[in-house]
Amino acid sequence: KVVESQKGKTSGNCPPLEGGVVGQVVTRFPPEPSGYLHIGHIKAALLNDYYARTYQGKLIVRFDDTNPSKEKDEFEQAILRDLARLNIVGDQVTYTSDSFPRIADYARQLIREGNGYMDNTSQEQMREERMHGIESVNRNMSPEVALDLFEKMLLGHPDADGYCLRGKVDMQAKNKTLRDPVFFRTNSTPHHRTGTKYKAYPTYDFACPIVDSDEGVTHALRTTEYNDRDAQYYWVLDALKLRKVRIHSFARMNFVHSVLSKRKLQWFVDQGIVEGWYDPRFPTVQGVLRRGVTVDALREFILTQGASRRMVDMEWDKFWTINKRVIDPIAPRFFALDAERAVRLNIHGLPFTGVQGFTTALHPKNAELGNTVKRLSANMLIERDDAELFTVGEDVTLMRYGNVTITAINKNSDGEIISVDCKDHPEGDFKKTKLKITWLAQVDDVVPATLVEFDHLISKPKLEDGDNFIDHLTPVTRAEMHAIGDHGLRNLQYGDIIQLERRGYFRVDSPYVSKDKPLVLFMIPDGKQRAMS
Ligand code: ATP
Ligand code: MG
Ligand code: MG
Repeated sequence: KVVESQKGKTSGNCPPLEGGVVGQVVTRFPPEPSGYLHIGHIKAALLNDYYARTYQGKLIVRFDDTNPSKEKDEFEQAILRDLARLNIVGDQVTYTSDSFPRIADYARQLIREGNGYMDNTSQEQMREERMHGIESVNRNMSPEVALDLFEKMLLGHPDADGYCLRGKVDMQAKNKTLRDPVFFRTNSTPHHRTGTKYKAYPTYDFACPIVDSDEGVTHALRTTEYNDRDAQYYWVLDALKLRKVRIHSFARMNFVHSVLSKRKLQWFVDQGIVEGWYDPRFPTVQGVLRRGVTVDALREFILTQGASRRMVDMEWDKFWTINKRVIDPIAPRFFALDAERAVRLNIHGLPFTGVQGFTTALHPKNAELGNTVKRLSANMLIERDDAELFTVGEDVTLMRYGNVTITAINKNSDGEIISVDCKDHPEGDFKKTKLKITWLAQVDDVVPATLVEFDHLISKPKLEDGDNFIDHLTPVTRAEMHAIGDHGLRNLQYGDIIQLERRGYFRVDSPYVSKDKPLVLFMIPDGKQRAMS
């Protein structure tokens, strides 16, 4: 919701739209349904949404479905779901494929007016000619011949085999994108929406300006690497006498140790290196949410860090630091110990026998989260790494309970600690102890949990132009640890975010079912720890 006095006022990170009029701005987010959304796309989607809302205008979500070879209905559905997860709901959802008949009409107009021709020059030769400013032998084909070939191409008639439609722009232009770009090409793959109706499809370069103008877009946001193509975009609008659209450019967002390209991500999926597009190591919307980022943190990160026009390689640490600020006050806290390194702590002098529960806050600074019951008994478990720091006679604080005084540290013949004896010391001052440790009562129903940590899929921070990402894969990117934890962990649901005190933040990937189907928790990076530490 935009506050009345802030209408049309953008924040410092998002420069105002040139010629942006409150109430009249129309933006669009045009994903190609050829994969799942990644965080680069989120930047584009959020910026379009941001400008539409700030100017009290309209956001169009447009499926740019002009290449049937790569597109699927599955991806379309996933994109809409992911946008909804981020609270981005277009005022209108459109499909470039719905405009195919109109785009074909514009192509006919282009040809009729001498601004386009049909060409069957081979791709390789076309590239050569474009490089050297050589005109195609077909460039001066008459509009009648070109129109006939165009109609035949749309129908897949053999006479038009090998032909494409090219704009007759300028083969001498310094800006090579103006050297007679391809505007329509054949493709016999059935389209996921229009089936086999068309045998040729407009290119993005041709379809985008037409549909933008047709749909009433006032500001087309494009990443700066498209700057060279701006002239071509305007040429199409001019040649067809279409309403002007302003281009507003923003920087592409990249992340260190990551690839942000649907084609490359698809490779990981196809190789079985990841579980799928929702893998927690993936920079997809679903991947980062599953890893434990919150929607709020994601939005904040992109609108503050990512909105500038300068292209930067974003650091994951910053991303996770913002997330930590969001989750820390709302993540309930529990204890869990390394199952393989737990040792016994025998408490003597407790004022009760057996097991006794006591109530404690789930978060010491957030009463809204409510309480949990922790259980205490004479037979407790602590971690050996903590026990190794004990000295006899010293007070240690059992977090949330109070102090005990160490009376004996018992070792086996290898010198390894097997148990510790201590005395309850309720008057002890927990402010004076050096060691504050987590613990569990040794009871049957401690909750087994698998803690999973992930590393970056790509080992090199920044892939250079000549690098093939396949040569820079991190060999091992998943590590597991077996833990046992508080009784309260039993009630967690899929997607809950918690803190295991002294270990970090975690997101529930599968709830506890039984001893054989333990709770599975994914560690959420907090911007400080290195992954797989
Ligand atoms: P990919 O290489 O992942 O397939 P794309 O640009 O081909 O990306 P589209 O579905 O065509 O994918 O992109 C939809 C929108 O998202 C476009 O406006 C595009 O500019 C924007 N976009 C894609 N990647 C990034 C990125 N890394 N940073 C910012 N915006 C991006
Ligand atoms: Mg694209
Ligand atoms: Mg791309």
